[in-house]
Amino acid sequence: KLGNATAKAELGRATWKYFHTVMARFPEKPTEDQQEALRSYIFLFARLYPCGECAEHFQQHLNKYPPQVSSRKAAAGWACFIHNEVNAMLEKPEFDCTNLGAFYDCGCAEDENAEKG
Ligand code: FAD
Repeated sequence: KLGNATAKAELGRATWKYFHTVMARFPEKPTEDQQEALRSYIFLFARLYPCGECAEHFQQHLNKYPPQVSSRKAAAGWACFIHNEVNAMLEKPEFDCTNLGAFYDCGCAEDENAEKG
C-alpha cells in the first residue's frame, strides 16, 4: 500500500508538538487523579491515533515502556524517550532530552498558577 507519506509526517509533527506540550504543562506535583488522567489519556491516544500502523507500533512501545506520570519532569522525560524510540525505528536522529527546557511553550503563561484538572 502506498499511503501518503507527506500527510503522515505532517500529522506526526503536529501530534508530537501537542503531545510534548501536554507533558510540559502537566503539574509538577500531580494528584493521584491527575496522574490517572494522564495515564488513561496516553493509552487512549495510542489506541485512537489516526495512522493505524503508527498506533500499532506505538502501543507496542507503550507496553515496553509504560507512561511515567509521577511528575511533570517524569512525564516530559518519558515522552521524549518514547519519541526517541519512534525516531530510532524510523532511523531519525536522537533528540537530546536534556534540551527540552522551554522548547514546548504553550503560550499560556497567564494561567501559569491556575489549577489544572
Ligand atoms: P518528528 O519526529 O515529527 O518531530 C518533530 C519535532 O519534534 C522535531 O523536529 C524536533 O524538533 C522535535 N523532537 C524530535 N524528537 C524529539 C523527542 N524525542 N522529544 C521531544 N521532541 C523531539 N511515522 C511512520 O512512518 N511510522 C510510524 O510507525 C509512526 N509512528 C508514529 C507514532 C506516533 C504516536 C506519532 C505521533 C507519530 C508517528 N509517526 C510515524 C510519524 C513520525 O514520528 C514523524 O512525526 C514524521 O515522520 C515526521 O518526522 P520529523 O522528522 O518531521 O520529526
